[in-house]
Amino acid sequence: MNTHLVVVCGGGGFIGGSLVADLRRQGFTRVRSVDAKPQNQWYQRFDDVENLVLDLEGKEACYQALQGAHTVYNLAADMGGMGFIELNKGLCMLSVLINTHLLMAARDLGVQRYFYASSACVYNADKQRDARVTALREADAYPALPEDGYGWEKLFSERMCRHFREDFGVAARVARYHNVYGPLGTYDGGREKAPAAICRKVIHAKRSGKHTIEIWGDGQQTRSFMYIDDCLKGTQMLTASDFVEPLNIGSSELVSINQLVDIVEQIAGVTLERSYNLSAPKGVNGRNSDNTLIRKVFGWEPDTRLRDGMEKTYRWIHDQIVAAAG
Ligand code: NAD
Repeated sequence: MNTHLVVVCGGGGFIGGSLVADLRRQGFTRVRSVDAKPQNQWYQRFDDVENLVLDLEGKEACYQALQGAHTVYNLAADMGGMGFIELNKGLCMLSVLINTHLLMAARDLGVQRYFYASSACVYNADKQRDARVTALREADAYPALPEDGYGWEKLFSERMCRHFREDFGVAARVARYHNVYGPLGTYDGGREKAPAAICRKVIHAKRSGKHTIEIWGDGQQTRSFMYIDDCLKGTQMLTASDFVEPLNIGSSELVSINQLVDIVEQIAGVTLERSYNLSAPKGVNGRNSDNTLIRKVFGWEPDTRLRDGMEKTYRWIHDQIVAAAG
């Protein structure tokens, strides 16, 4: 049993909600979940957790959220898949207010551990031009040429964490997540990412009998995708550790988007006619996580096979769509 107060910022979101659920499973008795969305829109909400609706862009809200906190996970950000971040750079940049005000509150309220969720979008775009990628090492964030908007905000906020640690002693830890997927996350509405979007499209094609699918880009762009359970394990390991530099937390199982569609088709038991929308947002050509450092630090790396994680994700999205259809 752990009686320290743990605050999960962004607890109404995909990763934050899953973290709250995981902390409860582990026997944490004092958890506070904070999000700007109304509680009926949280992916996971538990009555035995202290649930607060606060806009963490505001400074006062951050001080209220962190009152009495021992450990803080900052998973709150205005974000989404490529379709959202390419078209909402200003909104993405505003998340800088969340991390800045949370760090100030963490410093002033004596928070013992502070976790910040950064992203593989901080990496230099020049290293991601080829689909046959060399996996990204932590050092590849500099010289800086991150994803415009969202990536710049993440890189700046990483540095805020560094300097609040160096100058004010805030025990900040920073993970660079690579594409996290799993049940209980966004799968429609414009903020969803590729794994969930592809599941949704395949399910709709199967249910409607119209066996076609539109793919963003030429389908040859490559990525790795990390299952939520691995994300939660790595996040908590890093937060508890003495490792202070930004660390990749991502899978190194590289696939093209076409291969991801193959996997979902196999799970669904359908074959669809593919069309390629070359003008849709598609992000960098290739990106993978170099896990040398995380293996060295923890003797572990995210290892859930994509096929296994996608099976669970597909089933959950399928159930949601069937339930919504009545
Ligand atoms: P999500 O959108 O599901 O969750 C983010 C939550 O933050 C949302 O519930 C949102 O309402 C909340 N939020 C936004 N603005 C807020 C504000 N002003 N005050 C309070 N709450 C606010 O996203 P997620 O996938 O759970 O991502 C969590 C974190 O991990 C984010 O920082 C994201 O940038 C980072 N990340 C995620 C991925 C991924 O693949 N999911 C990859 C890299 C980094």
